[in-house]
Amino acid sequence: MTDLQSYPPHETWHDVTSLDAKAWPRREEHHHTLVPTTCFNCEAACGLVCHVNHDTGRIDRVEGNPLHPASRGRNCAKGPATLNQIDDHERILYPLRRVGERGAGQWERVSWGEALDDIGGRIRTAIAEDRHNEVMYHVGRPGEDGYAERVLQCWGVDGHNSHTNICSSNARIGYQSWMGHDRPSSDFANAEVIFLISSHLESGHYFNPHAQRIIEAQGKGATIICVDPRLSNTGAKADHWLPAWPGTEPFLLLAIARLLVLNGTWERDFVRRWTNWEVYLQQRHPHRPTEFDSVGPALADDYAAYTPEEAERVCGVGADQITEIAGIIGAHPTKFASHNWRAAGAGNLGGWQTARCLFFLNVLTGSVGTVGGTTGNGWNKYKAPHPQGAPPVEQWNELSWPREYPLAYHEMSILLPHFLAEGRGRLEVYFSRVYNPVWTNPDGFSWLEALSDPDKVACHVALTPTWSETALFADYVLPMGVGAERHDVASFETHAGRWIGFRQPVLRRYAEIRGDAVGHESRTHEFNPGEVWEENEFWIELSWRIDPDGSMGIRRWFESPGRPGTPMSVDEYYGTMFAAVPGLADDAAAAGQTPLEFMRDRGAYALDGDMYLPYERQVDPSELDDCDIDRSGVFRRSGTPGRWTGSAEDLAGLHLAGLGDGSPAVQVDNTPREGFPTPSRKLELYSETLADWGWPEYATPTWIPSHVHWENLDLAGDERILLPTFRIPTLIHTRSANSKWLSELSHRHPLWIHPSDAEALGIDVGGLVRITTRIGHFVIGAWRTEGIRPGVVAASHHMGRWRLDPAAGGSWAGGDADISNDGTVWRLSRRGRPQPHASADDDTERIWWSDSGVHQNLTFCVQPDPISGMQCWHQRVRVAPAEAGDNYGDVVVDTAAAREAYREWLAMTRPAPGPGGLRRPLWYARPLKPTPAAYAL
Ligand code: SF4
Repeated sequence: MTDLQSYPPHETWHDVTSLDAKAWPRREEHHHTLVPTTCFNCEAACGLVCHVNHDTGRIDRVEGNPLHPASRGRNCAKGPATLNQIDDHERILYPLRRVGERGAGQWERVSWGEALDDIGGRIRTAIAEDRHNEVMYHVGRPGEDGYAERVLQCWGVDGHNSHTNICSSNARIGYQSWMGHDRPSSDFANAEVIFLISSHLESGHYFNPHAQRIIEAQGKGATIICVDPRLSNTGAKADHWLPAWPGTEPFLLLAIARLLVLNGTWERDFVRRWTNWEVYLQQRHPHRPTEFDSVGPALADDYAAYTPEEAERVCGVGADQITEIAGIIGAHPTKFASHNWRAAGAGNLGGWQTARCLFFLNVLTGSVGTVGGTTGNGWNKYKAPHPQGAPPVEQWNELSWPREYPLAYHEMSILLPHFLAEGRGRLEVYFSRVYNPVWTNPDGFSWLEALSDPDKVACHVALTPTWSETALFADYVLPMGVGAERHDVASFETHAGRWIGFRQPVLRRYAEIRGDAVGHESRTHEFNPGEVWEENEFWIELSWRIDPDGSMGIRRWFESPGRPGTPMSVDEYYGTMFAAVPGLADDAAAAGQTPLEFMRDRGAYALDGDMYLPYERQVDPSELDDCDIDRSGVFRRSGTPGRWTGSAEDLAGLHLAGLGDGSPAVQVDNTPREGFPTPSRKLELYSETLADWGWPEYATPTWIPSHVHWENLDLAGDERILLPTFRIPTLIHTRSANSKWLSELSHRHPLWIHPSDAEALGIDVGGLVRITTRIGHFVIGAWRTEGIRPGVVAASHHMGRWRLDPAAGGSWAGGDADISNDGTVWRLSRRGRPQPHASADDDTERIWWSDSGVHQNLTFCVQPDPISGMQCWHQRVRVAPAEAGDNYGDVVVDTAAAREAYREWLAMTRPAPGPGGLRRPLWYARPLKPTPAAYAL
């Protein structure tokens, strides 16, 4: 099942002969060089192999890389579609500078040198004038591990901003509050029960690597349980599909947890050894003896209200089915693999409790780090070490890390337009990097207002492979490579194993194989189409422009180690990195190669090591000589923070670990063991951090009623819950719009609505519907389907691309649109749809579809969870037939109402300072962790 049978052997990859299928029955041979890289179209970074034609020097085909340990030669449709993105006739080929008003679509071509000089000069001045926080890098999907963070650290700016709070903040804090690691890593292939709060078989996180292993497990007899109000392909394939009311998932999970405890089908000894049950009892049940026998009755008391019958009433899932599932889970201890990333986690106020309650089942069944269980991502991921960089930054940027959200995971990026509007700061240089917040984020018109105002954003630089709604409001549009045109290294927790994948510019590598001169002075844009560059070399060059003579102490971090006074080359960068990967140098030497050549030839590397039960590893007592042991058995080195009770002055001497608080071990049954990266080194059944920082009521797994909880809706009237979060397997936000194959596969954007709701609300089959949100409305077409829970409607977030430029030609997936504005009221209306047209690609004449979807995200206000900061995507909406004058795709929004909603949600927070006068717990992760002193508020 896991081996591919018909792939050219690796030793032939530099010259593979194939027959031209179109020439049949003639036997016409072609010769290709196969160059590996990794996919850049979602977070999984699956392996790809590009087939470069020896006659044309072009890439003919993109397939899977059988040597990649996670994807194992398989891809979803978006991997091979990289070829479309390379050849797309609309792609941006040269650096562009705005010449008209922002958003007017008027550009002039500039050289890379001109762009670098201007941008570098602005950054240099901002840093020299101590305006570090006016430099911001806002990343969409990074697709790499730590390169950009190193750059910012070397500049000394706390300028990292991410898309995390529209994606995974809730899931992260749910997992992190248990185990320190903020992502789950599920050993699906070996599981006996798989519990998915997602649609993993068609999208989900690390979709292709996960899906192939879930199917393997099902083939071996595993039971698959899927919770989703929508009958996704995953729900259809599952043994149990549970369409719970949105936001009630934690209730459902706690009902199962209660049954595990009552049935005695919980792993008592695991819970005794590896949870902080003593703290739980002391805090929640001070009148019970602090002995383990108290834990079962205490849990039974705490969760007494979560009966199957009450779960049926609250969640809408049958009590018998819940009882049956609890029985199945309880019968398979240690072999329970689960996952939640977006879905319920991303949709709801308090959605972070979905991950917390789901992982509770892993804890109760002892399925943590086991064969067939779920572990922390940090144990199934290997972050390759970057060349030496500068010490931690000394800044704290409140535009990304505001005091109202001390526990946010991570930056509060969705609030940036509101913070700028309130005068909390301004930006001298704002990089949007492969990110499209005007379209992807909620409240896009507030983004449009901010990005249109040079007083708020002096210079917006869009680093992007494709045109986007956001790039239109940039000052520079700088073309960056797709998956076959750039260097990146990434590693993800796709299964029980560790690997690194190497993305590389394929034609540059092909030139090297062919024997062309490719040296330290070469630049990737010399090999890519037009002058499309890669970010790695761009950042090195930009850093030199910021500090041309080295006087600012920045340039030295980007200098060649072997050629003083010249920029570091990508070969030097990655050569240094790969030489430090355990085992790689030896395996490369055995193949007669350097580590870099080895990676350029294979594209991926699997690290050795036993991935199971990492927390049980014994720590040699001699390594703990310089540690104190506290009352809970945690070994701490002087200078590691623990549960911080010191003062701001004491912060200076601390050392902050990247993950967790840096204590090396915990005593378990008289043996020091590695444990978990939490303050207790245990799984935290009771989170003292949440309690210390003002949320004691949520310190244990619990259910927080969602902002769209069905009992608070006028369901007898026209209120419904809108699910705007689901993915389409063949699309990926902004990038897929420039792929003809993907656009042809997926281009319809219906609103899923149950027939009973359609009847009650007077919605015709295929009829137009007006969906009214808190700040506006949009108009979409209806699709009646029994594949959705009554009371809930759904529309995918992948559709609804638009373009304003009347001079732009046609498009595979974007609809021409106009935007008008009357005070704070904005209106977007469609001017056109995809249709056949002439272009450099004959296939544009063959466009047979005409839907480009509806941009629903514009009509959503920001709804950040007060703890995690996650945008709570689900919407409380009114659903009604379209009104006279409504047209498909219409969007109307009032940004004054959006501002009011922002203030309301902001008022739900419990701001810093926390204990010790801190801005944020010291042990919490941050993409770019500053010095301890910066934590003092
Ligand atoms: S799952 Fe698909 S889009 Fe994602 S990395 Fe793999 S091939 Fe690319």
